[in-house]
Amino acid sequence: MRRIEQLAILGATGSIGRSTLDVAARHPDRFRIFALTANSQARELARLCIEHRPRYAVIADAESASALATRLRDAGLDTKVLAGERGLMEVVSMPEVDVVMAAIVGSAGLRSTLAAAQAGKKILLANKEALVMAGPILMAAVRAGGGPLLPIDSEHNAIFQCLPPGGTARDGGAGVRRILLTGSGGPFRTRKLSDLDAVTPDEACAHPTWSMGRKISVDSATMMNKALEVIEARWLFDAAPETIEVVIHPQSVVHSMVEYSDGSVIAQLGNPDMRTPIAQALAYPDRIEAGVAPLDLVDFGALTFERPDFERFRALGLAYEVLRAGGTAQAIFNAANEIAVEAFLAGGLPFSRITDVIEATLEAIPPRPVDELEDVLEADRLARAAARALDLRPA
Ligand code: NDP
Ligand code: MG
Repeated sequence: MRRIEQLAILGATGSIGRSTLDVAARHPDRFRIFALTANSQARELARLCIEHRPRYAVIADAESASALATRLRDAGLDTKVLAGERGLMEVVSMPEVDVVMAAIVGSAGLRSTLAAAQAGKKILLANKEALVMAGPILMAAVRAGGGPLLPIDSEHNAIFQCLPPGGTARDGGAGVRRILLTGSGGPFRTRKLSDLDAVTPDEACAHPTWSMGRKISVDSATMMNKALEVIEARWLFDAAPETIEVVIHPQSVVHSMVEYSDGSVIAQLGNPDMRTPIAQALAYPDRIEAGVAPLDLVDFGALTFERPDFERFRALGLAYEVLRAGGTAQAIFNAANEIAVEAFLAGGLPFSRITDVIEATLEAIPPRPVDELEDVLEADRLARAAARALDLRPA
């Protein structure tokens, strides 16, 4: 009989967290929820705990942890509640945990993802910012820990499925010529440039094909998301940056492709529903039901592809510059974006200035080599301070 795998879901109250719970709950014979975590949505975390009965729950601070513990006790649960980043790192390292879904948004997910890697857990990586900030460090921790890392980001999950077993594009050794990373182009692909000053957070978050958390939705609108994904692909697959090419594909059906030296191009297709990559990674190498509607290509009729507009979406070109610069440039790039997106969502910074903030921060802080995690964290702090010192108010 198959052993039941114990899951820790970091960021359980988010878009990826919920989709993971949805898939796991369809397979009680394979998965059990060991831990659920959240940041500010304590009430929602309590509701999820009552539904899924985990052994542990983790919430941001001690005060909300004690309120959550009372609520869960009153509901008759014996779930233990931990607090903060320490709680996250403790829970992912517990011997009972088999699989860690890393689905916290932003740099806040870095340390817990690293802890899971060091503990040799099977990591399902949605938190792309961790890899962007600290690619070489995280990949080294994965190798040292000995556990597998499976990409959840739909494009990278697609690339993983299109690559030969082992999932590497290193030196074109497996005959890999190019990685073709697709992107929808977001909600403003064809919008008049002069209109972009006035777009609201709600417009930027209304993605044409995917339903996601607010930060990644804004990243998709600036195409910073695709920029982060270029860097993510570089580290996940050990791919040379010049072999990673972005292709605009507005229907979001072809999730990415790999081109081989013999001219073959292998693509992975599916409806834009994150439960597909989540189920693929959860069950790998098996295949399980994900609750996703079958893809009806005839319904689509035509799938279209375009070259990206590097002038409209300057963030995309910056990704390659940042990879060339190396060292802490990636952490600076990510941190500046997090501050700019926060300012935009808070209603201050105009949408069209998000990329300006990223560029200005990259100019303000020279990249340094990365020898250890502290180098990354220091760059993250410096970049946040530099980005905040810029004028983030409406023009
Ligand atoms: P959401 O905003 O929907 O969810 C984020 C989760 O992280 C929530 O559970 C939130 O808790 C938690 N969280 C936020 N800040 C902190 C913090 N400081 N400490 C601990 N936990 C925190 O994001 P998504 O689910 O959309 O995205 C999660 C990650 O997955 C991102 O890195 C994103 O880029 C990536 N991803 C997402 C895709 C999608 O379709 N959504 C697709 C591909 C990648 P709370 O709810 O309590 O605030
Ligand atoms: Mg993606």
